[in-house]
Amino acid sequence: MTKICKGINDKPDLSIIVSMYNEEESVPLFFNKIREVMGKLFSYQYEIIAIDDGSVDKTYQLLLDYAKEDKRIKVIKFSRNFGKEYGMMAGLRFCSGRAAVPMDVDLQDPPELIADFIKKWEEGYDMVYGIRDDRTSDTFLKRTTAMLFYKIYNLMTQSPIPYNAGDYRLIDRKVINAILSLKERNIFMKGVFGWTGFKSCGIKYVRAERKKGESKWNYWKLWNFALDGITASTTFPLRIWSYLGTLLSMVGMLYAFYIIVRTILFGVDVPGYASLLVFILLLGGIQMVILGILGEYIGRIFIEVKNRPHYIVEEKVNFSDDEA
Ligand code: UDP
Ligand code: MG
Repeated sequence: MTKICKGINDKPDLSIIVSMYNEEESVPLFFNKIREVMGKLFSYQYEIIAIDDGSVDKTYQLLLDYAKEDKRIKVIKFSRNFGKEYGMMAGLRFCSGRAAVPMDVDLQDPPELIADFIKKWEEGYDMVYGIRDDRTSDTFLKRTTAMLFYKIYNLMTQSPIPYNAGDYRLIDRKVINAILSLKERNIFMKGVFGWTGFKSCGIKYVRAERKKGESKWNYWKLWNFALDGITASTTFPLRIWSYLGTLLSMVGMLYAFYIIVRTILFGVDVPGYASLLVFILLLGGIQMVILGILGEYIGRIFIEVKNRPHYIVEEKVNFSDDEA
C-alpha cells in the first residue's frame, strides 16, 4: 500500500524539522540545499518547520525573511534556548506532514538521503533512520566515546539504539503520534525513537563536515547528555547496586565469620589498621557512588513532578489557525 495520498486536507507529505541555535551562517545554505533537493522530489508536498531555539544572532530575522516569501517555511520561536531535543519535540508537535524528517541545519546530514528515506517509506517502513557509516569527520575521542555510549546504553536498556544512528531519519505519522503521546520532560529522542517500535530500517550514509559555524557540543555537554539518556531510559544503574550490595554483604559476613573464629581460637590480634582503613574507604566510596546515582534519579523525579512544559513558544509564523 502506498503511503502517499495527496490532496487530503491539503496536508503536506513531508515535514522537515530543523532546530537552530545561532546559525545565521548556515540558514541560507540550508534552505538553498533543501529547495534544490526537494525540487527534484516534486511529487511530494513538503513543509519546513524551523525552530529558532533562542538564538541571539540574526537567525530569527533570516527565518522571517525566508518565511515571508515561502509559506511552506513555518517558523517557531522559543522564548529562550531550550536545547535541540525540545526543538525537535516542538517540530513534531506542530508539523502536519504524513511523515517527518528531523535534521540538523549545518548540512552534516546530506539532504539527498531524503529520496532514499522516501523510497523505503513507500515500501512500508514506518521509520527509516540514517546510520553514520563513516565518522572520520569526528575526532577519534568523539568516535570512541560515542561507541562506548552505544555499547553501555544497549547493555542496559530493552530497546537498543542502532549503532551510529542519529536523529536524522524519516518517521511516519504513526511514530510521530506515539512520540507525542509521551508526557515526560527528560526525553531522550534517540532512545524514544527505538522505544516506539514499528517497522524500521537503516540506511548508511557518510556524515559530512559542518559547512558553516561551530558545533554547540563539548565533552561536558555530551557527558550530561549521555547521563540524561541513560537515566531517561532505564533504572538499571539503580538495580545493579542491590546485587552488588548483596554480594558485598555476603563476602563481609564470610569475613566476619572468619575473624570471629580466628579471635576465639587465637585471641585478639591488634594490628589491622591498614586493612580496616581500606575497607572503610572502599565501602564509604561505594556508598557515595550509590547516593550519587540515587540523586541523579531523584533530581529527575523532581523535574518531572513539576510537570513544566517542554518549551515556551514566543511566536509562530505561517501556521494556520487549526495548527495552533
Ligand atoms: N541546536 C539547537 N539548540 C541547541 C544546540 C544545537 O537547536 O541548544 C541545533 C543546531 O543549530 C543544529 C543541531 O542542533 O541544527 C545540531 O547541532 P550541532 O551541529 O552543534 O551538533 P553536532 O552536529 O556537533 O552533534
Ligand atoms: Mg552538526
